[in-house]
Amino acid sequence: MSILSKPYFHDEEAAHTFLEGILWPLSKPICPNCGGFDKAYKIKANVAKKVRVGLWKCAHCRKQFTIKVATVFEGAHIPLHKCLQATYLLASSKKGISSNQLARTLEITVKSAWFLSHRIREAMRDSGVAPIGGEGNIVEVDETYIGNDKSKPKRRGYQHKYKVLGLVDRATGKARSMVVADVNAKTLLPIVRENVARESRVMTDDAGYYKKLGRHFKAGHGVVRHSADEYVRADDETVHTNTIEGFFSIFKRGMRGTYQHCGPQHIHRYLAEFDFRYSNRVALGVDDPERAAKILFGARGKRLTYRRTNIAQA
Ligand SMILES: [Zn+2]
Repeated sequence: MSILSKPYFHDEEAAHTFLEGILWPLSKPICPNCGGFDKAYKIKANVAKKVRVGLWKCAHCRKQFTIKVATVFEGAHIPLHKCLQATYLLASSKKGISSNQLARTLEITVKSAWFLSHRIREAMRDSGVAPIGGEGNIVEVDETYIGNDKSKPKRRGYQHKYKVLGLVDRATGKARSMVVADVNAKTLLPIVRENVARESRVMTDDAGYYKKLGRHFKAGHGVVRHSADEYVRADDETVHTNTIEGFFSIFKRGMRGTYQHCGPQHIHRYLAEFDFRYSNRVALGVDDPERAAKILFGARGKRLTYRRTNIAQA
């Protein structure tokens, strides 16, 4: 039986129960208005009386709510079971899934699919600011150019492309990437210092802007000489940036194949999506259902701020 035949992907009541199970510890309701724990009772859905599925009423503050309140799905005018299907599809497709394909699969408009997938990307976003790496860990650092930043004049070379800095912690397998304004020491070094723990060992290629990076890291700085066609150092095979380059190649294949048009205001969301899937990949012991559950867990406490007249605040 395919996992996509599970009731919570098709039935609204089951979808609410499923998400409640993920977001409410001990399956006891928590009121998003007053924080009251296990003090709410369920209101039976009734189409004739316009009582929605998944509605609860807090016995403490008397306010009504659903599990979608204070999550990225709040205000989405798409049934929750379709939101869960979309979450699973985005969690399990290695290169991502286009809004066109999502719209066809869920039988919703392309515009709705686009907004829904951005809600899910927001849930994937790592809200932690703790640096990656640490004592005994190696962190690879590299940058790449991607896409076509339409806010910049189109020229030869890289100037019109997005500049992306990527970090991968080899020990944990986790990736973190971000759009940067410039590729030079002044811009890159503070970002790397902020995002990588001081105890780590860092690896980069021999680009000039990383030259002074080593002095900030206690375990030093390995440099692979790409300019001399060197991809692994002969005298120390831990010195390479092949892991972060592998991450960039997955990201580029996905962006090219699935997300062709991406504006400057959205590129960070796609990076969050690829960071998330890479950091929770099968090789690290995370399977598709678990990855989808992690997204749903991250849906809490985040709201999307897109202004759109036909998305009302629930
Ligand atoms: Zn309450």
